[in-house]
Amino acid sequence: MKEIYFDNNATTKVDEAVFEEMRPYFCELYGNPSSMHFFGGQVQKKVDAARSRVATLLGADPAEIVFTACGTESDNAAIRSALEVFPEKRHIITTRVEHPAVLTLCRSLSKRGYRVTELNVDGAGRLDLNELKNAIDEDTAIVSIMYANNETGVVFPIEEVGAIVKEKGALFHTDAVQAVGKISINMATSTVDMLSLSGHKLHAPKGIGALYLRKGVPFRPFMVGGHQERSRRAGTEATASIIALGKACELAARHMDDENTRVKGMRDRLERELMRLIPAGRVNGGGAERLPNTVSIAFEFVEGEAILLLLSEKGICASSGSACTSGSLEPSHVLRAMGVPFTCAHGSIRFSLSRFNIDQEVDTVIRELPPIIRRLREISPFGREILAQHC
Ligand code: PLP
Repeated sequence: MKEIYFDNNATTKVDEAVFEEMRPYFCELYGNPSSMHFFGGQVQKKVDAARSRVATLLGADPAEIVFTACGTESDNAAIRSALEVFPEKRHIITTRVEHPAVLTLCRSLSKRGYRVTELNVDGAGRLDLNELKNAIDEDTAIVSIMYANNETGVVFPIEEVGAIVKEKGALFHTDAVQAVGKISINMATSTVDMLSLSGHKLHAPKGIGALYLRKGVPFRPFMVGGHQERSRRAGTEATASIIALGKACELAARHMDDENTRVKGMRDRLERELMRLIPAGRVNGGGAERLPNTVSIAFEFVEGEAILLLLSEKGICASSGSACTSGSLEPSHVLRAMGVPFTCAHGSIRFSLSRFNIDQEVDTVIRELPPIIRRLREISPFGREILAQHC
């Protein structure tokens, strides 16, 4: 069965052009970029070129890009560094809707004596900047707030946040794993000190990420050892994956308009039609600015996992929350933070599109999902009530 893949916030297909770009760096050009000989030197040149490509996508300087193994590592590196840079400061600000890569770390730091403020969001997933203003003080070492939410696609006002953070002299990190490649980001005019990205969310392979580190921002490396990455991240570079990430960033820049027109158009049509055809649904984060590729819909009185399984039987891949929380039957922490009622949060399905999706796939979901929801509602008393109200 050919998959209809609408789970691109979990991971993306590697673009064939990206794969072709990385292929020679396994069996032919396998030199170590740190080696003195010509064979390593030619790989070093390609790593430098990849660094420039990543920097160009972000409006950054190549020297500001540090390659890491994943978004999670970049997040950990940024937050842990800030705490080492300011050992006298014991306060961290983040939000209740961060990815576990940030939230789990912050919660473990709170057990080790740090004061952690988790900012709330409203029903549409928006931040209250006054809450940030009230929480931040001279003791705040770092504010880590995601650029865009992986479950709902809600985009936070990063530059407004940054203006508040800078007034208090704290460092500002953003987890932009879901934003990079989907919306335009320009570090040249930004207040962000550190930004995390991950290759596998933008059609590069899994196991490669990067940390943008603004020039002049003090940094203490999380991984220590050799002098790779200007001593900011030790370990022999994952050359093929770095080269792949560079190519993926170049392609993301080229396809950004498509992402914001064609992909957004498909997302909007999917959302509109599902809301029209299925009663008692609500778009999570519908009232907020969102990524162009993501829609999360809560269907009242149905189980998200059951929907996913029935969609999966039709070849349709979606998610009932973030990839990292599926498998657990707890309603997602993001939807709970937004105050989505339990009966809706449980029936939430996220569709996340990419430039590889086509209109016919959207048609298939629009055709297949309404009878699935109806079938599931028919087997529950509350579900039958909804059906009775809407027939
Ligand atoms: N941050 C966000 C917002 C994510 O969506 C993810 C992955 O789903 C991560 C961080 C973790 O990235 P990685 O899988 O590269 O460690």
